[in-house]
Order: sequence, then C-alpha cells, then structure tokens
Amino acid sequence: MRAKFSQAVLESSEGAEMASIMRACVHCGFCNAKCPTYQIKGDELDGPRGRIYLIKSMLEDEFVGKATQTHIDRCLTCRACETTCPSGVRYSRLLDLARPLIDAKVGRGPWEKTKRWLIRSVVPHPRRFNALMTLARACEPFLPSTLRELVPSPGAAPIEASVQIHSRKMIMLDGCVQQSVAPNINTAARKIFNQQRIQLLSFSKSGCCGAVSHHLGELAEAQGYARRNIEAWTAALEAGAEAIVAMSTGCAVMLKEYGSLLRRDPEYAGRASRISEIVRDPSEVLDPGALRGAYRVRSNQRIAFHAPCTMQHGLDVAGKAEACLRAVGFKIEYTPEGHVCCGSAGSYSLLQPELANRLLDQKVTALESVQPDKIATANIGCLMHVRRRATPQVLHWLELISQAAK
Ligand code: SF4
Ligand code: SF4
Repeated sequence: MRAKFSQAVLESSEGAEMASIMRACVHCGFCNAKCPTYQIKGDELDGPRGRIYLIKSMLEDEFVGKATQTHIDRCLTCRACETTCPSGVRYSRLLDLARPLIDAKVGRGPWEKTKRWLIRSVVPHPRRFNALMTLARACEPFLPSTLRELVPSPGAAPIEASVQIHSRKMIMLDGCVQQSVAPNINTAARKIFNQQRIQLLSFSKSGCCGAVSHHLGELAEAQGYARRNIEAWTAALEAGAEAIVAMSTGCAVMLKEYGSLLRRDPEYAGRASRISEIVRDPSEVLDPGALRGAYRVRSNQRIAFHAPCTMQHGLDVAGKAEACLRAVGFKIEYTPEGHVCCGSAGSYSLLQPELANRLLDQKVTALESVQPDKIATANIGCLMHVRRRATPQVLHWLELISQAAK
C-alpha cells in the first residue's frame, strides 16, 4: 500500500510500526471474504481493507472522525483476516496501535464512556462481578429482555480438586469471570493435569490477564494487570515452573502479548517476554495418547466444537482440543462456517449487541445443525455467549474430559 506519512509519524516508534504494517498490504481484498462484519454489513469500511485505509488516512492527513471510530469499533478483533492475508499484514497489531489514537482524537460521549468504565470496573474483579450478578438475578423479572439475556445462570457449585505434588509444575491463570461463571473449568484442569502428573500452581495475588482493558484501548491499565501477574509468578518461575497455562484461549492470547505490552519497561520487559514464550493452551500440554489411557466416555456422545477465534487465529492451536476429545471417545461433528466468530469477542457483545447477536444466531444455528448432544468450546466469553441461545449444554472441553473418567 502506497502511503505518504509525515516525518512526525515516522519518527514515533508507534507511527513507524503502523506505517510498516500498512506498507505490507497489497489491497487484494482476500481478507474481506473472511471478515464477519464485512459479510454482514457489506460495506468496504466494515472490512479489514477499508479499516486499514481509514487508519492510513488518519496517519497521512490527520483525518479522523466519528465515522472512522464507528467502523473501527465494529471490528471484532477476531483476526480471521490475518490468517487469510497472503502478505502477512499484522492487522490486529495495527488496530491495537490505532485504537487509542482514534479515541484520543475523536473522544466518546458520556454514555459510551460510562459503559466502558463499568465494563472495566466490574468484569475483571470477581467480587464486584458476583455482587452485580446477584443483584441482576434478584431483579431479573423487572429487567428488559435484552438485559435479562445477558445475566449468566449461576455457575455450578465449585468442586474442590485435591492438590497433589508432582515434580513437573505449571502456573495456572485462575481467570476472573471464569471463576464466577464456570469455576469447575479450573477444577477439571487440576484433575486432568494431576492425572498427567503435572501440578498446577495458583496464586491469589494474580488476577485478570488485562484483556478487557486492552480490548478497550486502555493500554496503561492493561500494563498494570500484566505487572501484577508477573510479580505474582516470578518466584514460581525462578523455582522451575515450566509454563503458564490459561484455560481460556482469550486470556492465553493476552498473556502472549505481555512481551510487546511491556517492551519499553526496563524492570519488566525481560520477564514479560519470557512469559509470552512459555504461555500454553492446555491442548498444547496434554497428550491425547495419555488421555486415552485414563479417560473413556461411556456413551457415544456427539459434540459440536466451537473453536474460538483466539484458538484458531490467535494461538494457532486449531484441532488440538478436538484431538484430545476424540482420544477419549467423543465424536466430534464438523460444523459449517467454523472459522466465523460467535460475536462474543471480549466486551464486543456488550458494546455492539446488534452485530454480536446476529453472529450468535448464525453460530448457534451452525452448531445445532449437526444435532449434537453437547457443545464444547475453549474460551469463557464464547461459552457464556453461546449458552445464551443454544439448547444443548455448553461446556469447556476440559470439563467434558474430566466427566469421562474411566
Ligand atoms: S488480504 Fe492482506 S494484503 Fe490483501 S487487502 Fe487484506 S490485509 Fe491487505
Ligand atoms: S479482525 Fe475480524 S472483524 Fe476485524 S477486520 Fe479482521 S476479520 Fe473483520
């Protein structure tokens, strides 16, 4: 893509990085074919190529208005465009750099600011989230249907998994919302890892991975979460913990960003970069062959697997969780349009409900078209979002395996 960036842009490290990402784009438009928002809206500016043009205009002519912000806000950051792009354009990185600049130039109205502040103030904090959900459930009959649908059912009572000592140790990111809505995902993980002779370590001083703030363009806040987690894990890493495992793929992708997020912080850059290198999805650690020996599902259960975008396009571990499920006897059904986002996308379902609900309906129709006994996924946001409309039970894939004990 030809572009004439000002000297001021090229002299700032962010500007130079954005310019270099944009220059890789040959505006072929292949990415539009995979972009969910382009497919729904049919507007070039609601596809990746159009959004790159909008960012380019901002850097070249300093032109940026409300329309630019609206088209950028509609992006799910699902990264389907990135894995399709033949030129390797790092679109999501471009967006991460552009979002705060656009927000600083355009600003947001009071209601928009309040919504974003509320999401950042509640979602990453389990106590606040639980208190708000308790209140929302008590008021449920009086809530409008659009809000009622957003209130998750209370998670099943947490089951304690016994902690056993093993020489192989990994750190588990406990997660924030996941602990409230589906606490037994971590229980299932402990049980399965324990069976594989790996001890999962938890640290109460760690917390949200920072993804909520990062998605909302609040980079300083996201850096704060990253530093807190790094401090909480440093001693265990120095003592030999070999990896950090996140049961939600969205959190794992965020942890992989720590190196880039803190690269200019001399105190944390080295440790952040090490964390990015050793983050693992459980499907990368667990061995299907070993699982086969330990677990066996009793009936021939048919599973529709919803692979989160963060799993397919962010972590590049597509197919590994399904291999683990197959190994213990589940039958994985192929579902159409498996690459398309369900519309959850972090806080997207709260901020862009119309598009998020369109995508959710499409996803649930695709998943239910194979008449599964259950739906499995790998990310807490997708799990909560798909549960809102799906008829079969929706579980994390680790919960399914732990229920298949021999
Ligand atoms: S596929 Fe890649 S090179 Fe082609 S328009 Fe999209 S971002 Fe640009
Ligand atoms: S990240 Fe997803 S929604 Fe955003 S431009 Fe790329 S494909 Fe479209």
